[in-house]
Amino acid sequence: MPLSSPSSPRPFYYPKQGSALHCGKVSLETLAKRHGTPLYVYSGDQIVERLGMFQQALASREHLICYAVKANSALAILKLLADHGAGFDIVSGGELERVLAAAPEAVGRVVFSGAGKTTAEIDRALIAGILEFHAESEVELELLAARAAKLKRKARFALRVNPDVFADTHPYISTGLREHKFGVDIRQALKIYKSAASSRWLEPHGVSVHIGSQICTAAPFGAAMERVSKLLRQLQREGIELKTIDAGGGLGIDYHRSSFDAVAKVREYAAAIQGALAGYEGQLLIEPGRFIVAQAGALVTRVLQVKHNGKKTFVITDAAMNDLIRPALYQAYHEIVPVKPSAGKSRIVDVVGPICETGDFFARDRELAPVATGDLVAILDTGAYGMAQSSNYNTRLRPPEVLVEGAKARLIRRRETMADLLEPEKFAIGG
Ligand SMILES: *Cc1c(COP(=O)(O)O)cnc(C)c1O
Repeated sequence: MPLSSPSSPRPFYYPKQGSALHCGKVSLETLAKRHGTPLYVYSGDQIVERLGMFQQALASREHLICYAVKANSALAILKLLADHGAGFDIVSGGELERVLAAAPEAVGRVVFSGAGKTTAEIDRALIAGILEFHAESEVELELLAARAAKLKRKARFALRVNPDVFADTHPYISTGLREHKFGVDIRQALKIYKSAASSRWLEPHGVSVHIGSQICTAAPFGAAMERVSKLLRQLQREGIELKTIDAGGGLGIDYHRSSFDAVAKVREYAAAIQGALAGYEGQLLIEPGRFIVAQAGALVTRVLQVKHNGKKTFVITDAAMNDLIRPALYQAYHEIVPVKPSAGKSRIVDVVGPICETGDFFARDRELAPVATGDLVAILDTGAYGMAQSSNYNTRLRPPEVLVEGAKARLIRRRETMADLLEPEKFAIGG
């Protein structure tokens, strides 16, 4: 990776030849020394900057950016985003608790998605007073109406419609086709809104879509909005006026390139959505997750060993698939760079973790600058779906997280301890 320019998509850069990789004004070498490895480091500045890009691109209309909590649910990051005006898209009761813990004042800016909400989750969200529920089926609407009646609180809902738009992404993260489990067929939506409108406890408040994740072109977002727009006109003719349209999340980043114009991407995306919504005066919601946090994060890990097996060279790191599962789960590509580059010829290597699974890898047949035992490397663009999808597989302690803002770095999650891990089981052996 070259020295970064101000327009670099990543906040990680080498301030000058021979110096260590930095985040903001902070050296990753220093952070690794202080907190140990593996370690997640995030740029708070970039997170705020990315949120601002969406806010600016939609500034001409009433809007709310509902950050998708599942991408990275660190409390300090939720607080940072809330302080800058973000709302939140949650997909579980647990994520609601995170928002309530980090930024209770933002609860009125929360939308609740997810294909299987429990009674307890619905009750908690109704009482907390979230902005709207994204109902994904008629059955769920019935449950929502029943709970609203029980608690005597009218439930604002947006139907999550499935626009049947194909988005060219990994099959596991594509969601907008009729064959997927998400939402209701847009052709059924009118009928469902009409019947819900007659319920005393339901308020048709909006309509929502989410066609998938890591979608790198604007066209599918526009196509989905065209269909929503048509539905909106049908609803208006029936006297149902919605206050919000939620275009979902899913805008992708370029994991392969260090030159990536985020501002242009967001503008193009916003134009595609707004172009399809001409004439709509209500509030526009979007739910970006990855685009806001992915490039803000790096996983810093130490090389345990460099091992040669026949023709292959394996760089074994102290981070593993339990810390970052995206390569194993989605065949995801992440750029890997030495924290302190040394002179010498690069080699073709596999970068792997110590877990007993062949799937435990970060990169295969990758050209990497020379590294040796004890060196630090950074796995880039890991701010989204990194720590959020981590686990304790192999009884490994999950890494700490550090948030960098300007010249300041602060620990926002300590490393887990063995006591944290054993606690829920101790009673079973009389401990
Ligand atoms: C996952 C998800 C998002 C965020 O997707 P990104 O690709 O991270 O932007 C937004 N909305 C819903 C309903 C989701 O499930």
